[in-house]
Amino acid sequence: MSLYQVNDGVAIITLDRPPLNTQGLPLRRYLDDALRASLNDLNVSAIIITGAGRCFSGGGDITEFNLPAGTQEPQAPALFERIEASSKPVVAAMHGMALGGGLELALACHARVAHAATQVGLPEVHLGLLPGAGGTQRLPRLVGVEKAVNMIVKGDVHSAASLSDSGLFDQVTEGDVLGEAMTLARKLVAEVSENKSPRRTSSLPCTMDNAQAFIAFARSTLKTPVGASTAAQACLDCIEAAVCLSFAQGMACESEKFRNLATSSQFAGLRHAFLAQRAAANVLDLPDGTTARKLKRVAVIGGGTMGSGIAITFANAQLPVLLIEREQAALDRALKTIREHYEQSVQRGKLSSATATARIALISGETNYAGVAEADLVIEAVFEDLEVKREVFQRLDAVAKPGAILASNTSMLDLDSIAAFTSRPQDVVGLHFFSPAPVMKLLEVVRGAQTAPDVLASALALAKKIGKTAVVSGVCEGFIGNRMIEAYLMQAGLLLDEGALPHQVDQAIEHWGMAMGPFRMSDMAGNDVGAKIRAARIERDPSRVYSGVSDVINSMGRHGQKTGRGWYDYHPGERKPAPSPEVQSAIIAHSAKVGLQRREIGYEEIVDRLVLALVNEGFKLLEEGIAQRASDIDVVYTAGYGFPLWRGGPMRYAEQRGLSDVVATLARFSTGPTYQHAEIFWRPAPLLCRLAKSGESLAQFNLKETQ
Ligand code: NAD
Repeated sequence: MSLYQVNDGVAIITLDRPPLNTQGLPLRRYLDDALRASLNDLNVSAIIITGAGRCFSGGGDITEFNLPAGTQEPQAPALFERIEASSKPVVAAMHGMALGGGLELALACHARVAHAATQVGLPEVHLGLLPGAGGTQRLPRLVGVEKAVNMIVKGDVHSAASLSDSGLFDQVTEGDVLGEAMTLARKLVAEVSENKSPRRTSSLPCTMDNAQAFIAFARSTLKTPVGASTAAQACLDCIEAAVCLSFAQGMACESEKFRNLATSSQFAGLRHAFLAQRAAANVLDLPDGTTARKLKRVAVIGGGTMGSGIAITFANAQLPVLLIEREQAALDRALKTIREHYEQSVQRGKLSSATATARIALISGETNYAGVAEADLVIEAVFEDLEVKREVFQRLDAVAKPGAILASNTSMLDLDSIAAFTSRPQDVVGLHFFSPAPVMKLLEVVRGAQTAPDVLASALALAKKIGKTAVVSGVCEGFIGNRMIEAYLMQAGLLLDEGALPHQVDQAIEHWGMAMGPFRMSDMAGNDVGAKIRAARIERDPSRVYSGVSDVINSMGRHGQKTGRGWYDYHPGERKPAPSPEVQSAIIAHSAKVGLQRREIGYEEIVDRLVLALVNEGFKLLEEGIAQRASDIDVVYTAGYGFPLWRGGPMRYAEQRGLSDVVATLARFSTGPTYQHAEIFWRPAPLLCRLAKSGESLAQFNLKETQ
């Protein structure tokens, strides 16, 4: 097959590496060969670069990063320079997406034609990188410094239509991109034959009045979450170089900073998190050819905190929702909550009022189950009580149409028992949304013993449709996320008994990178909710040890933010939680009650006890087969629990730290206070010990498990 097609003197080079035409070594080699050949072809006077299938190009190939192919020639920066240096005009014809290296390739062309719906952007910063193939140097020359700073530092994706006046494109069209690109290419050929050289982006000036002051300001506004700021800073350094230095010097700066970032631990962690998310969408043992069921109409049972949030989530994805409540007053409350949610979105400028009205109209409500018969998917979000769930699922079994998926949003209850309330356990699955449902990315898909493969496939397809990150979990108390958080919260409480205060624990772990410390989190979730969960757990397993101070705080009516007091005091008008002297006294009194001499506890011990509690439980979940793979656990924690993305997740953290060191640290903690059953709590998971001893990696372990 020829490298390109010639149409009326124009060579059409087609990037063709499904699904996203990512620029791994094969594509780079192809582009290089096709470019060289078309430059040498006397029948060719202009070149168009376009993409086959869904898009122009999704950018660099992230899976290639630590492979030899990643460093083999041709490398993107030099290849793009050759494209720009071409004496024959080169036009990028873009559709679908041109992201990262995809957009950088287009920037190096002499002209760009895009379909209006093309998604364009330089999202490298989200991976802890910068656009390293000329993006930081060429983009400001086309769109100006201010817009380039916004696009590169924020890493947002835009439609070509929204950038049609930015200078980025020569033409944005709703019509035939290739046809328009042909017309433009011929026009450029005519210009070149008049002794004008093609317009090279690198030759354009890069200026802005007070550019350095603007960049300094941008630098000062960068949020600096621990460990995550380096890439954004480096992007700004490169744009500053574009303004202050020559193009070649700017490219050298970009290249050096890119290399530094590419070898940083932040990038390694973010890359892990990115690939982990991609892997999580694959269920290991789904039979080939399993197809998802069509889910067009949804019913949600229960319109409380979760039910109303879930209804909003579906309406946002343009799916009609029927909300069922047990009585009219509760239904009215739920529909009012939904309306208020949308009204607030309009007030905050997040939605147009027409869109909000359309979404509200997608949600209807009933107090009887008749309409459920129409639904392809029913999600139950009633009280967390097995008897209430029994009643609901028995009714659903009676009214739902054959083949409808019956899902439960339970956080803790046994999904198999719930499935057994129906005559169709194969259609039952857990869809564990997190609060607030429209915002939180994570969706735990709980696979019951009898959940049918196509039900699982449907749940994963649905997650994608509603913009959630799905992770499959087996059945156990709390599934992956809440089972692990329980161990973490237990340690947080016990640290108070020994000498720490809530704000010290929160500060230590937030400084380490968690979005929110355990006590701020408990105040948000409600300490009364936590108390109920603890009581239920102790009833089932009396060997569990929680700090009694949690119940003391709860019994003071300190239920958290909703009561204005919890582990902290919340003063009206002040956003920051204030440490409470009353809580401090209660904690000190409790230490005396359990016979402990309070001691100073350093950040390192606080962080280790919280994070390693997660890690050890994670290894147990992996060994029990509740999690399919270690990286799924990482996705649960980064997407659902505020674990720092750049650390990759708890399992990756453990591996980076060294499993032998993890085991040794657990052994040290196991000599803690006897009443805490420290020896039992910190007993390392057998799998953790095994891997620490053998040196086998988690990836190798998973590979073996799946063979
Ligand atoms: P909630 O108390 O806010 O709401 C439950 C709603 O269900 C109430 O409005 C109630 O009127 C309604 N209801 C009860 N029985 C009903 C019936 N037979 N038919 C129709 N409606 C009925 O509770 P929630 O916080 O929304 O939790 C709901 C479920 O979601 C629970 O299983 C919970 O464990 C789970 N969950 C909660 C959270 C959270 O953060 N709140 C997070 C994830 C999962």
